[in-house]
Amino acid sequence: MKTNTDLKTISETLFNAKTALLFPHKNPDGDSVGACSALSLALRAEGVECYVYADEVPKYLHFINREAFTKNWNKIPNPDVCVAVDCNEYERLQERSVLFDAGKTKICIDHHEHDTGFGDLYYIDPKAAAACELVYEVLKYAGAKITRDIANALYTGIVTDTGSFRYSNTRSESYQMAKELFDTGVDHTKIMVNLYNNKDLKKVRCENKAIARVILFAEGKGAISYMTSGDMGSLDAHPQHTDEIIDRLRDIDGVEMAAYLEEREDGIKVSMRSKTDSSVLEICQRNGGGGHVKSAGCTMHTTLENAFAIIKEEMEETLRK
Ligand code: 5GP
Ligand code: MN
Repeated sequence: MKTNTDLKTISETLFNAKTALLFPHKNPDGDSVGACSALSLALRAEGVECYVYADEVPKYLHFINREAFTKNWNKIPNPDVCVAVDCNEYERLQERSVLFDAGKTKICIDHHEHDTGFGDLYYIDPKAAAACELVYEVLKYAGAKITRDIANALYTGIVTDTGSFRYSNTRSESYQMAKELFDTGVDHTKIMVNLYNNKDLKKVRCENKAIARVILFAEGKGAISYMTSGDMGSLDAHPQHTDEIIDRLRDIDGVEMAAYLEEREDGIKVSMRSKTDSSVLEICQRNGGGGHVKSAGCTMHTTLENAFAIIKEEMEETLRK
């Protein structure tokens, strides 16, 4: 793990910049979108010309202020600062890595476990439940005004990455920060309705399909399911429709470890979750991915059948221990 840069240097580098670009990870989620939204709004308020270069933001997150988000990835060719948010690997930036590399100073703000890290300055804390917690720390340190839009964005990231304070990554700081943000007047009900009571019918159909074919093994402690590209096509489904299948699998009584595999153009996307101390991180790292001990993923460049067999075998072995 690289040594973290102090908050003073991070905040000065960010707020003294004339131009800044922010990069959430591919298939952006509530945390990466929230963190980029909050940081971009705070930087813009201080006169920094700032844009967020993001993939398509899923519809359920459209309530977050995305005025700095742009599809035109040629806005600023050589920005003073580039920030990778909620990710610390080139792979998670995909084709945007060259744009990230063009920054005069590269910063990484993240909460994933990773040995190497990338960029020039780091603010990485695997104990943080969300990248939004880290962005909030930076903004507080910098004395930035926490507007309602910024509070809504940060609150969303903390709520989504803690699974509404259910996951074991939840720490007292998560509640403390959520409380402080709540007290600034976040739109709590609007956020919750957008996040949890607006499920796309396609998403429900995808979850039904994957749950219907779940395979339980290792005395019910392992659960695994999948979607082929054919299934995705016939349901007109995209990754944002399948991102919670893994949670449905983990939620099954008795299941300690779950895996969901999806056939995509660039390989087999594997999502894994664990309910106990068994590490899914090690399994995903062995297969070229990363994440957290209880929530990890990887993309395997083989057939669905092969990936399924490898992951199931690794799960069996881990669950036997
Ligand atoms: P998900 O299963 O929701 O895609 O990801 C679970 C966790 O693992 C997230 O924290 C995510 O950032 C991380 N993760 C997923 N896929 C990859 C990957 O290919 N590489 C790395 N390093 N992390 C991943
Ligand atoms: Mn996150």
